[in-house]
Amino acid sequence: MQVSKRQFLKGVGALLTGVSVYGATRTLQADSLLQPEPESETKYAMVHDENACIGCNACVQACREVNHIPEGVTRVKIERKGPFGEYPNQSYRFSRVSCQHCEAAPCVRVCPTGAAYIDKETGIVAVNSDRCVGCQYCIAACPYQVRYIHPETRTADKCDFCQKSRLAQGLLPTCVEACPTKALTFGNLKDPESDLVKLLKAKPSYRAKVDLGTRPKLFHIQTIDGEIML
Ligand code: SF4
Ligand code: SF4
Ligand code: SF4
Repeated sequence: MQVSKRQFLKGVGALLTGVSVYGATRTLQADSLLQPEPESETKYAMVHDENACIGCNACVQACREVNHIPEGVTRVKIERKGPFGEYPNQSYRFSRVSCQHCEAAPCVRVCPTGAAYIDKETGIVAVNSDRCVGCQYCIAACPYQVRYIHPETRTADKCDFCQKSRLAQGLLPTCVEACPTKALTFGNLKDPESDLVKLLKAKPSYRAKVDLGTRPKLFHIQTIDGEIML
């Protein structure tokens, strides 16, 4: 078949147009990939006021019941340190140990299946048990030692701020509600009107192991009597 010069040039022109459109599309796609995703308006966090905590463990028990945590493992612990001071003016320090919902979470980084993830809507570090193969990489990677293998599901588990059991129904985490002294405050770090942000602005607080770069979202208001153990 004979192809005229004009037809040939027309074909080359169409091809070049196609290539440049394809190139532009690719550039646009690459550009959009480089754009950071818009951040959610919600970033949940918790404050434990060690001055108000009396070490009653009501939070631990409430968590066990509401989230069906079997004996032998726990999502939250209250550690007691002390006594500090001289008798009869002695005091103890109580500190909450639970998932810190790190913004740069080592557990998420090492998970080979995507089962450990950060929920983009809430900032909660969660576990998708359907994807968890129980390899325990996340348990080894967590510098706060708050993850465990659930003895019944054989998958990784930890505090999720009651995301599945209560937040979905508009309720506070059960530990917050169960605390008799209001030592726990839960809320949105991005809401300047939240009780959580007001409390953090009003009182000095600290977070554990910040030097590791994990950007934890569990804040502690230090007890006046006890020494700080990071
Ligand atoms: S405290 Fe541990 S389990 Fe929780 S987000 Fe940080 S690394 Fe993950
Ligand atoms: S135990 Fe589950 S959540 Fe943890 S790293 Fe392995 S697959 Fe991921
Ligand atoms: S329920 Fe409140 S006072 Fe009791 S141990 Fe937990 S945080 Fe402390």
